[in-house]
Amino acid sequence: TPSIVWFRDDLRVGDHPALHAAVERGDPIVAVYVLDEDSNGVRPLGGAAKWWLHHSLASLAGDLRDRGVRLVLRRGPARRVIRSLVDEVGAGAVFWNRRYGGAEREVDAELKSGLSDDGLEVRSFGASLLFEPWTIRTGSDTPFSVFTPFWKACLAADEPRHPLPAPSELDGFGGADGRGGPAGDDLDDWELLPTHPDWAGGLRETWEPGEPAAHRRLRAFLADDLADYATGRDRLDREQTSRLSPHLRWGEISPHQVWHSTRERAAGTEGARKFLAEVGWREFAWHVLFHFPELATKNWRSEFDAFPWPRLHPSTLTAWERGRTGVPVVDAAMRELWHTGGMHNRARMITASFLTKNLLIDWRRGEQWFWDTLVDADHASNPFGWQWVAGSGADAAPYFRVFNPELQREKFDPDGRYVGRWVPELDDGDSPEPIVDLRETRAAALAAYEHVKAAK
Ligand code: FAD
Repeated sequence: TPSIVWFRDDLRVGDHPALHAAVERGDPIVAVYVLDEDSNGVRPLGGAAKWWLHHSLASLAGDLRDRGVRLVLRRGPARRVIRSLVDEVGAGAVFWNRRYGGAEREVDAELKSGLSDDGLEVRSFGASLLFEPWTIRTGSDTPFSVFTPFWKACLAADEPRHPLPAPSELDGFGGADGRGGPAGDDLDDWELLPTHPDWAGGLRETWEPGEPAAHRRLRAFLADDLADYATGRDRLDREQTSRLSPHLRWGEISPHQVWHSTRERAAGTEGARKFLAEVGWREFAWHVLFHFPELATKNWRSEFDAFPWPRLHPSTLTAWERGRTGVPVVDAAMRELWHTGGMHNRARMITASFLTKNLLIDWRRGEQWFWDTLVDADHASNPFGWQWVAGSGADAAPYFRVFNPELQREKFDPDGRYVGRWVPELDDGDSPEPIVDLRETRAAALAAYEHVKAAK
């Protein structure tokens, strides 16, 4: 009886515990990916994410095909799709790597118990986090709400396991070309890529999705940039960070692979320590989401429910989205996002602070825009990052710490190269007035914040 390996946010063949388990079981393998836009509560993907997904699936399908397995593409509510695939192929086992979002966990738990009741072997594995969320707890057995002690507890726990090798050859159900196996959709028919208009030119110039590219990226970062990472990571005008986030988001590379490669190369260095701590922020965001599944819609600190967001003028939001606020560093970052699908972490903090504290727009509006435009848009890190900046989140920056975009620009883009690249009209002496006065809006934000303090 064949084993089904259900691929989700783990679009790789290396360090893939579910695939590994299927190989060990011995019977022929059916590999499937389900595009699920129907299950209750599962968040539909944004535009940039769909672009990435298309290319990542194409890459995975190629890597699986080379090893003798066809990737079956199906669309629909995952519970129904997997169940019918089980019946079609007479599967004896279903394996997957875990997901940690609330809606996804519900889908998986129901499937697991239903299929197990029918006598199938159903197993799930930890693969996208270094530490399972239920294993890292405070001394009083609660989840951590502050990063530093959280990461300290992680570092004191057992070291993350070593990555599993990629299988070289697989026994594909229905033969190596999969023709005797179950039918699947054609990737192009999913229409994940933009056509009218095709806005993905900047994404194609900037990124290379897929597992082989993810590993090339990691190797290049470790060789060229890790040594100065600790000092240079905040600089907007340098490419000092790893740019691994979309690869991690889609599971083209596992955090275990990142962890061990970094340690092998540079254990004990300041660069390695700092870099792995950033990977630790990703862990923290996911642990927070695990314990608080409404992270994208609800304030983690409920006293922020009292925040009196003023009525939104739609043109203000559009000016921010399109990089036309008249504040150079904000506009540069928002244009970079629109063009490339990526944005530097420092720039994310600056633009998010500007939206929530100078434009006084609810963080959820910004989070949604990022969700739609980032190639690394992540169920946990995106709402976590927004709530962190807004002040409503776990271990958040205090609300009254309002980023001054002008000072940020002087400090992190001292020669103006970043801003100059994205806002070329500045060089022509053609600088528009900011749409809001930074000092006045800061004062208004602090006044509004008094409601939160009163609600506490
Ligand atoms: P590096 O500096 O090389 O860090 C290595 C890896 O660590 C990253 O690839 C990422 O996986 C993780 N990481 C680094 N910083 C953070 C952080 N602050 N929080 C969580 N993980 C981190 N990251 C996403 O992956 N997806 C998102 O949707 C996302 N949205 C964000 C929204 C806001 C408002 C903010 C402030 C931050 C957001 N981040 C998000 C975190 C961070 O900005 C990106 O992970 C980082 O910019 C990616 O660049 P890099 O891969 O070069 O990072």
